[in-house]
Amino acid sequence: MVSEEEARKKIVETVRPLPSRRLSLSQALDCFAAEDYVARLPLPTFDNSAMDGYAVVASSCKKGQRLRVIGEQPAGRDKQLSVSAGEAIRIFTGAPVPQGADAIVMQEDVTRDGDEIVVNTDVKAGEFIRRRGCDLAEGQKILAAGERIGPATLALLASQGFAEVMIGGEVKAAILSTGDELVKPGGKLEPGQIYESNSALLNALVQRCGVIVKSEEHCRDDRERLTEAIKRGIKNNILIISGGVSVGEHDLVRDALYKLGAQIEVWRVAIKPGKPFLFGQLNQCAVFGLPGNPVSAFVTFLQFVRPTILKMMGATNLNLPQVPAKLTVDLMNDSDRAHYIRGRLEHGKFTPVGRQESHALFGLSQSNALLRLDLGHSLKADEIVDVQIWDW
Ligand code: AMP
Ligand code: MG
Repeated sequence: MVSEEEARKKIVETVRPLPSRRLSLSQALDCFAAEDYVARLPLPTFDNSAMDGYAVVASSCKKGQRLRVIGEQPAGRDKQLSVSAGEAIRIFTGAPVPQGADAIVMQEDVTRDGDEIVVNTDVKAGEFIRRRGCDLAEGQKILAAGERIGPATLALLASQGFAEVMIGGEVKAAILSTGDELVKPGGKLEPGQIYESNSALLNALVQRCGVIVKSEEHCRDDRERLTEAIKRGIKNNILIISGGVSVGEHDLVRDALYKLGAQIEVWRVAIKPGKPFLFGQLNQCAVFGLPGNPVSAFVTFLQFVRPTILKMMGATNLNLPQVPAKLTVDLMNDSDRAHYIRGRLEHGKFTPVGRQESHALFGLSQSNALLRLDLGHSLKADEIVDVQIWDW
C-alpha cells in the first residue's frame, strides 16, 4: 500500500499534457489556455461616455447654466467633434468623447430647450467619462497558460478581437463498469442485483472536468469479456474502470491488465474510502481501476483521476478548490489511512453528513465538500480546517 501523496505524485508525473489546439471562443469554455495572452488593445479602447447625455467643459457648467447644443456624437463612428466653454454636444453611451470635453452631464440632469440645454446640477471634471486604458492597459497579461477559461475570460478575449484561442489537448475518456450484480438503470432487478450507478457518477465527474466521455461500457466479471472491453477502452487517453480491482476471486481487473502488458504504477492507496485503487499505463492510455463502492470511486476520482485529466488538458492547478471552514463537531481518525470525510459546507461551517461508509451514496449526495483527516489526527469542534469543495 502506498501513501496518498506518493500515489498522486507518481500518477501526475507519469501523465503528459496532450497536444494543444486552436478553438473558436464559443467552444473554449472551461478549457485551459495553452499560451499566455496579453492585451493588444487598452480597455476602454478610447475615452467614451458612460451615459446618454451631453459632453461639456466642466468649468463652464454651474447649476442653472445655459449651454448651446452644437452637434451630436452617437456610438459607433467618431465624428471628431470638439466643444468649448458655453457649448454642449449631445452624446450617447459608448460614444467617443469630443475634443475639449472633460465631463458628461446625464440627460436626466438637464432640461432641453430647443438648441439649448439648462444644466440642473453642478458638474465635476471627469464625470461619466470612461478613460482609455483605465480598466486594462495594452500589453497587460489577460490570461496565463494553464489557467481555466471561464465566461468572463472568454468575453475579455473577444473584447481584444481574438476569435480563437489556443487551448490544451482534447482528452478522450472511456468508462468501464464491472460486476455480475449490476443492472443498467431502466432494466429489471432480480433478487441480489443492484442498479449500476458508478457510470452515472463517473460520467458526471468527467464532464465537470470539461471532458466528454467517448465510450461507456459495462462488463460482467468474466476474464475474456473484460480483456476485450479493456482493449477497446485503451484506444482513449484515459480509461476509468470501476469495480473488480480488490482481492476477491471475482476481482479480475488487475490480472487482466497485467496479461495485456500494462505497467501497473500504483496499487492500493492509504486512503479511506478508496484503498483498492489501481493506476497503470497500457499503450499510451492512463488506466485507473477504481473501487466499486460508489463513495470510494468518488473520492479516488477526485484525488487521482481529476488531476490526471486536468494535467492532460494543460491545467496548472490540479487541486480542488479549498476554503477554510469552522468544524461543527469533534472528529478523530484512528485508522491506518487518511480519511476523506463527506460533509456540507454552509456559511463557512463544515458538518459531516450521512454514514461515513464507502457504500453510503445517499450521504454523499447530501454533501458538497470533503475534509481530509490525516491518520492518527483528531480535530475539535470550532477548529478552522481547510475543506475541499467538490461541487465546484
Ligand atoms: P467491487 O469493487 O467490484 O468488489 O465492488 C464493491 C462494491 O461496490 C460492491 O458492493 C458492488 O456491488 C458495488 N459496485 C461495484 N460497481 C458498482 C457500480 N458500477 N455501481 C454501483 N455499485 C457498484
Ligand atoms: Mg465487483
